[in-house]
Amino acid sequence: MTVSSGSIFMVVAPSGAGKSSLVNALLAQDPSIMLSISCTTRAPRPGEVDEQHYRFVTQDEFLVMRDNNALLEWAEVHGNFYGTPRDRIEEATRAGRDVLLEIDWQGARQIKKHFPDAIGIFILPPSIEALESRLKKRGQDAPQVITKRLLAAGSEMSHASECQYVIINQEFSVALTQLSQIISAARLRYPAQAARHAQLFSQLGISPTAN
Ligand code: 5GP
Repeated sequence: MTVSSGSIFMVVAPSGAGKSSLVNALLAQDPSIMLSISCTTRAPRPGEVDEQHYRFVTQDEFLVMRDNNALLEWAEVHGNFYGTPRDRIEEATRAGRDVLLEIDWQGARQIKKHFPDAIGIFILPPSIEALESRLKKRGQDAPQVITKRLLAAGSEMSHASECQYVIINQEFSVALTQLSQIISAARLRYPAQAARHAQLFSQLGISPTAN
């Protein structure tokens, strides 16, 4: 049996909940966490860099990866394909690194099937009004576009109960502390500690596996 001390964290949120800002701040605090770079068929937004924000691919390239089993999970979101490349995640978890995935609920469900210990963290806005105003601030979108995004946000949030943890992003600094506390707690879980301190556990005669 491979015992690994690394955990997989899945951060799930409707757009407008502030997920990316929280994740970026967390990674700046703790660079030991590996962020999974997803593949997507959507076009880059201004300022987005290939291989940094996403790996931007054509639909054909995406389908080849999917059919070659190169994706751990994939989903269609807002008419575009998104997927998590398998190789880097498997390598990182084998090496005992913590990995963070920013994915939607469909992806989170698939990851849980592969890695039942993966930890789901759902980020909620503090109110529907706050979500609406954040979505409006995003750009000069037509009211129909905002309505579509709100509906999509509602459908994403209806899956919040599939995550073990919920953070309400009212105050950014509080939400960031909570995210970081979840990571810290996960690192202290029995299997992670037993893998990390295998020698100590053995010397103390403590079981390497939790009951
Ligand atoms: P955006 O296009 O705004 O960056 O992302 C749209 C949605 O796709 C977000 O909910 C985001 O979490 C989700 N997403 C991004 N990458 C992946 C992925 O690799 N797999 C899945 N299932 N969803 C993803």
